[in-house]
Amino acid sequence: MSDYMNVSGRIFDVQKFSVHDGPGIRTIVFLKGCALRCRWCCNPESQEFEIQTMLQNGKEKIVGRDVTVSEVLDIVKQDMPYYRRSGGGMTLSGGEMLCQSDFAYALLRGAKESAINTAVETTGFAPYEKIEKLLPYIDTVLMDIKHIDSAKHKAFTTQSNERILENAVKIAENAKKLIIRVPVIPTFNDTEVEIAAIARFASTLKGVDEINLLPYHNYGRDKYTGLGREYLMGDTPRPTDEHMQKLKATAESFKLVCKIGG
Ligand code: SF4
Repeated sequence: MSDYMNVSGRIFDVQKFSVHDGPGIRTIVFLKGCALRCRWCCNPESQEFEIQTMLQNGKEKIVGRDVTVSEVLDIVKQDMPYYRRSGGGMTLSGGEMLCQSDFAYALLRGAKESAINTAVETTGFAPYEKIEKLLPYIDTVLMDIKHIDSAKHKAFTTQSNERILENAVKIAENAKKLIIRVPVIPTFNDTEVEIAAIARFASTLKGVDEINLLPYHNYGRDKYTGLGREYLMGDTPRPTDEHMQKLKATAESFKLVCKIGG
């Protein structure tokens, strides 16, 4: 067995039969830890690297467990027939998989050795060298661009966006396929002007022809209570379908294929 099959990392979930995070039917591996703190994050239990206890339906749930690459790939390989028929595979999500980049590298390499299609969801917030090492083993990069204005990005995520935008340019030049994703968040980036700025930037990236707009939802709200945290989005409503269609048309005006949802 290759050495990297014994590399261990920390995950908080594995979700099978996903059709939203990359092509075909996929198994999503959720890695723990993220350097951002997006106000709308629907997986707040992903943010801390530490193993946590979260109250769920009145019961304590341990969030996070340490696993080896071999253990994860054994689960992922259970659905090989579905991947073959649908063009699916494994997606690394989080949290931010770049916070455990050695583990992510080993998982991606192991998957490719078993001829499994690979995708990652990322904010791209890491030194580029970490990303560059992973790219040969990734078929599709799904990268969030949340806002073009750095001050606003920082106000809502705790981090500025310069590194993210610089990395997007480099990833576009070197990735097999890059799709830009935008969480559409009322009070943050849901105006036509803000979406146009992101779409304009995306349209300048080499090889990028698709952008996905992901409408805000509050499904993660109870998890904040379960972690003893305040949900900072309050009663913010979801963007209406009509508004999402308007934003889609805005993005399409930059000659991008635009999908609502992943
Ligand atoms: S980057 Fe993703 S995982 Fe990290 S805080 Fe933001 S929404 Fe949550």
